[in-house]
Amino acid sequence: MNAVRPLVAREDFPILARPMRGDQALVYLDSGATAQRPRAVLDAMVDFDTRSNGAVKRGSHLLAEESTVAYEEARAKVAAFIGAAPQEIVWTSGSTQSLNLLAYAISNATAGRGWGNADRFLLRAGDDIVVTRAEHHANLLPWQELCERTGARFTWLDLDSEGRIDPATLAVIGRRTRIVAFTHVSNVTGAVSPVAQIVEAAHAVGAFTVLDACQSAPHLPVNVRELDVDFAAFSGHKMYGPTGVGVLYGREELLADLPPYQFGGSMIERVTMEKTRYARPPARFEAGSQPVTQIVGLARAVDYLSAIGMENVARYEDELTAQLLAGLGQIPGIRVLGPRTGAGRTGIAAFTVDGVHPHDVGQFLDARGIAVRVGHHCAQPIHDFFGVPASVRASVGIYTTSSDIDAFLDALSQVRGYFRVEG
Ligand code: PMP
Repeated sequence: MNAVRPLVAREDFPILARPMRGDQALVYLDSGATAQRPRAVLDAMVDFDTRSNGAVKRGSHLLAEESTVAYEEARAKVAAFIGAAPQEIVWTSGSTQSLNLLAYAISNATAGRGWGNADRFLLRAGDDIVVTRAEHHANLLPWQELCERTGARFTWLDLDSEGRIDPATLAVIGRRTRIVAFTHVSNVTGAVSPVAQIVEAAHAVGAFTVLDACQSAPHLPVNVRELDVDFAAFSGHKMYGPTGVGVLYGREELLADLPPYQFGGSMIERVTMEKTRYARPPARFEAGSQPVTQIVGLARAVDYLSAIGMENVARYEDELTAQLLAGLGQIPGIRVLGPRTGAGRTGIAAFTVDGVHPHDVGQFLDARGIAVRVGHHCAQPIHDFFGVPASVRASVGIYTTSSDIDAFLDALSQVRGYFRVEG
């Protein structure tokens, strides 16, 4: 196979120059867990902290003013990146918090707080919340727990023989379904979900849709208007930004009726000892001081991705994925979990090696400077579906090269021999 021309300058990512385990080059194939940050992102954060750091919306001085401007400019940038309006972007600490925020806010509506038109979020015993078997625990447990709190029924879309969400199971979405929460891209199989079909089925019964865009926002063009989802969550650290920052997108008219879930500074209009009036979204959901440095870093990461163009990112990663899957298909004893072709999937490949425990595979690769993820990747139900407790996962990013994939495949082809597995 012809080598794919690199998409970005490797030097843009300082960590990639770090020698690993002796003096070996780093082959970083764990971007699905967390991506590395370009120097531009690191510099933007240092620059903000050395020049502008002040309390957002809390002061009359220049530094506070500059910080507030940076905070809101970042919001506008991230909104534009996903085709949303700035007031539809709520800052969180990551996808996990975004999804918990939403589930707890819905609980507060159900607890009858008499908030605006919050009745639209009411859950009654006998209502359903639908997820899929392909979810990361972050988009599963908040809904399972919400069912426990409200008496709603927890149910799910199932998978086809390749491990893709099976549209034939859409019939579980019915008259009593209030919420359908699903991933855009599986963090185990890399499969892209049939978003349009799920959204259509959900909206036909008046249910809200919640998209986990954690594994899509860094790799595919994501436009929440075109996808027509009501809520979406993603994390900064998976899209070349820092940890500690993420986003909950919510359709403006829905956020307007959603009660807050955390209470404190910055989220009020007026507080008296008797009663409090809360701010409009997004401030209503941003209680307390926010991670402004990280927000500035995320905005810079979005600039970096936008300068490349998400269509180009997707095309580039498709080529690497084809190389990765073709190579895995040629190594005896490898079982890829999920679709084996590049069509309709992104650059994530989870697999098992016959006769070798995933942790041993991980250590073998690590000793050669190759970073992959091993374990259940916070997605036990889909591992149960494949009948394995754990797997090895290689995942690509914009800085991954053809030679990274070659180095990985070459090392992997030696694993069974090293561990003296017959056959
Ligand atoms: N959803 C998916 C699909 C993920 O891959 C992850 C991270 N592995 C999450 C949610 C949770 O993201 P975070 O840990 O950044 O909150």
